[in-house]
Amino acid sequence: MMSLRLPSIDGLLRHPACVPLLERYGRESLLASLRQLLDELRSGVLDGQLSAIEISPEALAGRVGERLAQQQRSNVRRVFNLTGTVLHTNLGRALLPDEAIEAVQMAARYPLNLEFDLASGKRGDRDDLIEGLIRELTGAEAVTVVNNNAAAVLLTLNSLGARKEGIISRGELIEIGGAFRIPDIMARAGVRLHEVGTTNRTHAKDYEAAINLRSGLIMRVHASNYSIEGFTARVPTAELAELAHRHGLPLLEDLGSGSLLDLTRWGLPAEPTVRQALLDGADIVTFSGDKLLGGPQAGLIVGRKELIAKIKKNPLKRALRVDKLTLAALEAVLGLYRDPDRLAERLPSLRLLTRPQADIFAQASRLQPALADVLGETWTVSAVHALGMIGSGSQPVARLPSAALCMRPQVSKRLRGRYLLNLEAQLRGLPIPVLGRIDDDALWLDLRQLDDEPAWLAQLPHLQVDR
Ligand SMILES: *Cc1c(COP(=O)(O)O)cnc(C)c1O
Repeated sequence: MMSLRLPSIDGLLRHPACVPLLERYGRESLLASLRQLLDELRSGVLDGQLSAIEISPEALAGRVGERLAQQQRSNVRRVFNLTGTVLHTNLGRALLPDEAIEAVQMAARYPLNLEFDLASGKRGDRDDLIEGLIRELTGAEAVTVVNNNAAAVLLTLNSLGARKEGIISRGELIEIGGAFRIPDIMARAGVRLHEVGTTNRTHAKDYEAAINLRSGLIMRVHASNYSIEGFTARVPTAELAELAHRHGLPLLEDLGSGSLLDLTRWGLPAEPTVRQALLDGADIVTFSGDKLLGGPQAGLIVGRKELIAKIKKNPLKRALRVDKLTLAALEAVLGLYRDPDRLAERLPSLRLLTRPQADIFAQASRLQPALADVLGETWTVSAVHALGMIGSGSQPVARLPSAALCMRPQVSKRLRGRYLLNLEAQLRGLPIPVLGRIDDDALWLDLRQLDDEPAWLAQLPHLQVDR
């Protein structure tokens, strides 16, 4: 085999088969790829399969072309989120409305007044860009924005409670995905945890008994991704605020998802609103930009003016601040909230969350034949009702009535798992990966979020399934 002579690098570079690659990827990348391939051939990595044809310049160019294309493909890939979870943290949460995408483009392309007051010609503050809107939409006195809600909680705790005690119910010492745990964040913020009550029941007298000279704040955390049911008790925010203020302590409320409007008007499960938390007397409220708000990743800290001023003075604020793209997107999204009547049409996350089940089911029925055709006799494909989730810790037990394409392999029980995993991997390997979920011996594609039907259909023929 080694009697076959490999072509020279120089010869290959000039060969007509390599010219388009040279133009497309540039000399340096092409050269590196060719060298690597020839080295592999010489060292026998690709042993046992070499023929004269396989080391022809055309064949080598083809191989190098594939490698270069692979290298050039970006790591950030669009996917179809058919998992049934709308605000999926691992899939990028909220999708931005056109208004926000345009604002991001503008901010990316041109210089802007990020920290420059155009009226006075003096230095400005980036929070000012959205403060007016946030005040209008929440009733807050002041606002500051950071990179995400985890940062908002860390910064608030550190600014208002460092070296003091933070009082919190045992039922609210939660872990949110990605190792964000309230007790750990408190420790990192320099706040000493003073837990009160029990997992299922905490009373006003528990908070009251915990207050001492070292107390710095009372904290309340939205339970987010779990729910406590049955024999439970929690102190209403208004009562807790009254208690905190009687003792000269601020009440922080981490709403997690939070919402600017009452979602029940769209038939969605009730989530506490930011405005209500402030009306009830919370001094600072923190919430995410990319959960129910439907905007970019950000953490919003709103509340009393003097406390916000203190938070903004903390050097950590500088470390956790948001960039211009985020602010541009956030302002555009907040702007849409001024017209709640049209919000569900214009804000993608709300549009998807409120998509009627009948509509999704009709889509599933429409697409069922095409999928059944590709999968063949081994699989039954049916359009069925399904239950989805909001995601991102909003309403963990609430289910969104939805519809799905449900694929069941018609093979022995022993083989089912392997068939399902194989099909799932095939779907993941498509040019635009399709992500569903395996449950109850079937693979489910919840179609609530399938907007781009033509693109989805066009890639079905790429599937290579066990028939
Ligand atoms: C999601 C969540 C956070 C973290 O928010 P991110 O925006 O993901 O950083 C913090 N607290 C609660 C209660 C949450 O639900």
